[in-house]
Amino acid sequence: MEKNILITGGAGFIGSHTAVALHQAGLKPIIVDNLSNTSMEMVHGIENIIQEKLVFHPYDCCNKEQVKSIFEQYPIHGVIHFAAFKSVAESVLEPQKYMKNNMGSLEVMLECMKDAGVNNLVFSSSATVYGEPDDNPVTEDTPFKKAASPYGETKQLGEDCIQSYCTENIHFNAALLRYFNPIGAHPSGNIGELPLGIPNNLLPLVNQAAKGERVLKIFGKDYNTPDGTCLRDYIHVMDLAEAHVAALRWVFGQNGTCQAFNLGQGKVDSVLSIIQNFESINGVAIPYEWSERRPGDVEQIWANASKAKNILGWETKRSTSDALRDSWNFAKK
Ligand code: UDP
Repeated sequence: MEKNILITGGAGFIGSHTAVALHQAGLKPIIVDNLSNTSMEMVHGIENIIQEKLVFHPYDCCNKEQVKSIFEQYPIHGVIHFAAFKSVAESVLEPQKYMKNNMGSLEVMLECMKDAGVNNLVFSSSATVYGEPDDNPVTEDTPFKKAASPYGETKQLGEDCIQSYCTENIHFNAALLRYFNPIGAHPSGNIGELPLGIPNNLLPLVNQAAKGERVLKIFGKDYNTPDGTCLRDYIHVMDLAEAHVAALRWVFGQNGTCQAFNLGQGKVDSVLSIIQNFESINGVAIPYEWSERRPGDVEQIWANASKAKNILGWETKRSTSDALRDSWNFAKK
């Protein structure tokens, strides 16, 4: 029988691509998303790709009755929990909003999983758990520094909370996936990164600048890096989506394990090099200006992702250039 996988936040950027990857892998996505930072366009985009009607419920993951009703309606074999607020910058301005939503929805999810006897969880964590690391690349054993933002704190606390839950529930399995910087889009152009309102992440802003809708601000020109701009490990969202399938397969084979995995390319690009690479691959100009450093940003971080390769059998197949091309292909539509 086809396994049902509950994807919370499944209409969001990473969730939607993961729904496609799950479908391709013969698993059935059941999507819950309150559309707080996305729209039904993404749900229809997934349906266009998979050529099938999706199970979708516009529920809020902080609402226990709504989440519980999903477990009552469908036999759920595993959960991928994406639903969370994700803007580093906004979290600095509104920390309580982040704490309440990101921790509240996780608590509801763990309670509902327990009531329904579901023992397999893949959790959306983030490289922000490392704070500003002393050394790069970071491995899963690199100690956590103080998170540079309240968003990062919610991911540190979320991981702690799941680790404790695993200790108390001896058959529970969890993969904590520490994403580096997801960019790109499905190559069909049907789904991509489409936040509501003013975006916060680099690529949606680069796309808007390429369309002449804004001048991109580069946050900080005097970091201690080769060109003075921040260094990040950018990963194609389809590579990331496929990592969720691999993680799910891994948790299904466990009996009482909780482990973290870094998901990145293991290489860095600076903000400036992303802009230059985008311009040359896509043949468009990005108007930009220099701006102050953004509060909550770390200077540089990149992944050692060999644990995911060794244990999950997953590695990236797509380059930064592939991601920049796919991102623009989606945005220009
Ligand atoms: N960034 C920038 N201008 C923008 C948005 C982002 O210079 O308008 C930089 C940001 O300072 C960071 C990088 O782009 O160095 C990636 O930022 P993003 O918000 O995409 O991800 P983060 O690493 O903060 O999670």
